[in-house]
Amino acid sequence: MRAFEGPLDHIDQWDDHVRSRYQEGREESQFRDYTQAPQGVKDFYLLNHRHQTHGFAKAKRDEYARLTHGEKGIWEMMEFLNTLVDDSDPDTDLSQIEHNLQTAEAIRRDGHPRWFQLTGLIHDLGKVLCTYGEPQWAVVGDTFPTGCRWSEKIVYHEYFAWNPDASIPEYQTENGVYEPYCGLDSVVMSFGHDEYLYHVVKPYLPAEALAMIRYHSCYPIHKEGGYTHLMTERDHELMGWVRKFNPYDLYSKGHTKPDEKALRPYYEDLIAEFFPAKLRW
Ligand code: FE
Ligand code: FE
Repeated sequence: MRAFEGPLDHIDQWDDHVRSRYQEGREESQFRDYTQAPQGVKDFYLLNHRHQTHGFAKAKRDEYARLTHGEKGIWEMMEFLNTLVDDSDPDTDLSQIEHNLQTAEAIRRDGHPRWFQLTGLIHDLGKVLCTYGEPQWAVVGDTFPTGCRWSEKIVYHEYFAWNPDASIPEYQTENGVYEPYCGLDSVVMSFGHDEYLYHVVKPYLPAEALAMIRYHSCYPIHKEGGYTHLMTERDHELMGWVRKFNPYDLYSKGHTKPDEKALRPYYEDLIAEFFPAKLRW
């Protein structure tokens, strides 16, 4: 995908970084060694950690939850996003649509329910934020709770020193602006493609699917096990589903190219089972 505004060569460079961080067979100590990351990735995290304040995340969430960016069908949005893929991107041989289909197909192959397959298909459509002029650091990146102390489990934790929230004492206690065990639904996550798509599809999908969409980039929680002091029993249950989803997102990439034409009728049916012909974005 085109660079848009930011230090990443393309927006999927962040996904690639996460994949290499959690490569199967890597030692725990190697997860923490980010020195190998390209400078663009480091610069990206610096911007992300510096600018994703509690106020910013709340304002963007409220802005995009109003769904004022026109109406489109799901497949139509997939095609729209696909046109954004930059041919000059040397690392990503897969288009956005192919990543979506590959994720969904891997889920389908393992015999998971139809809503789960559909979730795989659509989980990254929030990346359309790029086309609304949002910078890379407000579209992708590991997400994390704002308005409370940053977990040391967040990648490049040291970059939070540049975040203005660092000097707001209320935001620097363990629970910050939240009550203990308040539930993730009342926590303002750093803003990105997860949160946006959640608001678009909220009326149409089961809670498990919505959790996968809303928290799939929240590695500090679903992978690192942080922030249990803000979570309810239900959140833990739902995180189980996010964890079930994560390997399909990370590791389904790179196998055979899916045949878009052949698969389209199956997925058009699946889309129609859950979504209206057009929905508000
Ligand atoms: Fe994603
Ligand atoms: Fe993805």
